[in-house]
Amino acid sequence: MSNALSTLETTEAGTLKIVSVPCLNDNFAYLVRDEASGNVALIDAPEAGAVEGALHALGWTLTHIFITHHHGDHVDGVPALRAPGVEVIGSAQDMGRLPPLSQTVTPGESVHWGEIEIRVIDTPGHTVGHVVYYMPGPGVLFSGDTLFAMGCGRLFEGTAQQMWGGLSALMDLPDETLVFFGHEYTATNADFALTVDGDNALLHERVNAVIDTLENGGRTTPTTIGLEKATNPFLRAVSPDVARSIGLADADPEIVFAEVRRRKDAA
Ligand SMILES: [Zn+2]
Repeated sequence: MSNALSTLETTEAGTLKIVSVPCLNDNFAYLVRDEASGNVALIDAPEAGAVEGALHALGWTLTHIFITHHHGDHVDGVPALRAPGVEVIGSAQDMGRLPPLSQTVTPGESVHWGEIEIRVIDTPGHTVGHVVYYMPGPGVLFSGDTLFAMGCGRLFEGTAQQMWGGLSALMDLPDETLVFFGHEYTATNADFALTVDGDNALLHERVNAVIDTLENGGRTTPTTIGLEKATNPFLRAVSPDVARSIGLADADPEIVFAEVRRRKDAA
C-alpha cells in the first residue's frame, strides 16, 4: 500500500465505498464511489490538492461534487477540481454565493445519483442555506457543519430555533445511519460534553474510546445517529438530565439546546 493510500480510511455501505480525506487543519472531505454505477462523488471541497492526491491513489475519476454550504473551507477546492464532465451540485437557495452549479437541489427533494436516492435535508443554522445529503438505501448521511461527533455547527447565520429544527429532522433518521461530518472537532467537543452531561455513562465510555482513537492517529468519522442521540450534548437537549444539569429542568428541548449552544460558544 502506498503512503498516500495508507492515510485514507474507507467505509463500505451497500454499493458505496466512502473514503475520508483530511484537508486543511481539521476538515474532512469525502470521496464516495458507487460500485454499481462507477460514479465518484466528492462531498465538499475544502482544497483541491488533498482530494486530487486521494483520487490518484485510489485510481478513481471524479464525476460529481456535492456542496453542503458556502463557507470557503467547503468550496475553495471546487474551481480546481471541476474538470470537464464533473457536475457541481448545491442548494438552489444559496446558488448566489456557491461556486457556479451545474445542478441545483431544493431542500426536501430527493435526487438520484445513479441508482442511489439522495434526500436533501434543510438544516439552516450554521448558515441559512446549509443542506445535508442523506442516502436512505446504504444508510449514509453527509452532515457538513450541521452535526459533528458530540457537537454541532456554530450559529453563524441562523437561529437556535432553526438549528434545532434541522437537528430534530436528523434525529428522526434510523439509529444505524452512518454520519460523515465536516470537521475533526471531536476532542474539544468531548471535553465540553462532559461539562453538561457528566452523569452519562455512555458519554464517558465514548470519550475514552475517542481519546484512544485520536492518540493512535485515527479519525473519529463516521459516527452514527444512534451514538449521537446517546452522547451528543446538543441532541441530548431532549434529556431531562442535561436540562437539569444546566438549570433548565422542564424547559422545552429547543430552549435547552439554545443554552447548551451558548455555553459551548463561551467555553
Ligand atoms: Zn462552515
